[in-house]
This record gives sequence, C-alpha cells and structure tokens, in this order.
Amino acid sequence: MQQMEHRYKVLVIGDLGVGKTSIIKRYVHQNFSANYRATIGVDFALKVLNLDQDTIRLQLWDIAGQERFGNMTRVYYRDALGAFVVFDVTRSCTFEAVRKWKEDLDEKVRVPGGKRFTAVLLANKCDEEKDDAINNIFSSMEQFCSELGFISCFETSAKENINIDEAVNCLRRGRHDAH
Ligand code: GDP
Ligand code: MG
Repeated sequence: MQQMEHRYKVLVIGDLGVGKTSIIKRYVHQNFSANYRATIGVDFALKVLNLDQDTIRLQLWDIAGQERFGNMTRVYYRDALGAFVVFDVTRSCTFEAVRKWKEDLDEKVRVPGGKRFTAVLLANKCDEEKDDAINNIFSSMEQFCSELGFISCFETSAKENINIDEAVNCLRRGRHDAH
C-alpha cells in the first residue's frame, strides 16, 4: 500500500499564562513543569504520528511574549490548518478573550487548497477549581462554540494529562467529537 505523508500546521493561541506551552509540552514530550517560564519568540514543536500506513507530521506553533490579539502577524497564521484557542478555567478574563482570538483567526487565516480551517476550544487547568463565572458559562458552552465556529470544546489539563490527546485527534480529524 502506498504510504502517505501529511503535514499539518496547528496554532495554539490564547492569553498569557493559560497553559499553551504546557499543553504542547505535554502532548509532544509527555511532561509538565510547574515553573512558570514565559515563552520567548515563536516556537514550534513537531509530533510525528504513524497511523496505519500514513505518517502525520503535526507542527504545533506556540506563541510567545506578544500574547495580545491583533498583534499576531499573518506570517504566523499562514497555511495553518487548525488552531486551539485556550483559556484558563480559573480566570474568566481569559475566557472573555476567546472571542477576540477567534475573530483574529477568522480575519487572518487563509487555508491552503480550499481545505477547511478547524478551531477547537480548550478549557485548560480543569484539575483546578473553576472560577464562578466560568461555571455559569459551562452550561451554555455548546451554544457558545457553535456561535463562534468552534467544532468542539474540551476541558483539558496539561498537568494531569486530561483530554490533550483527545483534543488533538478531534482537531486532526476536523470534525465534531464527543468531549
Ligand atoms: P502560556 O503562557 O499560555 O504558554 O502558559 P504556560 O504553559 O507557560 O503555563 C502557565 C502556568 O500555568 C505555568 O505555571 C503552568 O505550570 C501552569 N499550568 C499550565 N497548564 C496547567 C494545567 O493544566 N493545570 C494547572 N494546575 N496548571 C497549569
Ligand atoms: Mg508560553
């Protein structure tokens, strides 16, 4: 059977401190560090998956330092096939920023070859107690996701390794999955 190689560029965006770098580290290197170190410069990590006879090269792009919407350049967004927009369940202001991040994506991303751009929302740090405002939001999360054009939302923890693989698989397949 012919072997196929697929390359996917996936963006991980969201406010400072929500856990973007930790999610990438957990997914690619299977580790977690509680020491806070802000990422400097744009960085990316590569994960190679061998599925049946296919090889999938997932390039996860981290953002760094300039975590303000409107600040990301088109170069960073270029040719991306998907994005995770991350917020922190302990800080509702990071959820309020999700809409802005998504709007920035919609404005700047051009997907190659007419493929569909896929965005998945990640509610990270689910190992911690949720902020009250976030608890309320969760009752209407499905509606929020469909309004903003996210195919799905996952409660994740980079710390406890919860739902990270599931979220990546969902984004990779580009369709709605169970949470
Ligand atoms: P970034 O600025 O979005 O890249 O965020 P980082 O990945 O640097 O994480 C910011 C802080 O949150 C660090 O101290 C991490 O250890 C912590 N953190 C990240 N993910 C989780 C998580 O799932 N649970 C908990 N409890 N802490 C996390
Ligand atoms: Mg970072």
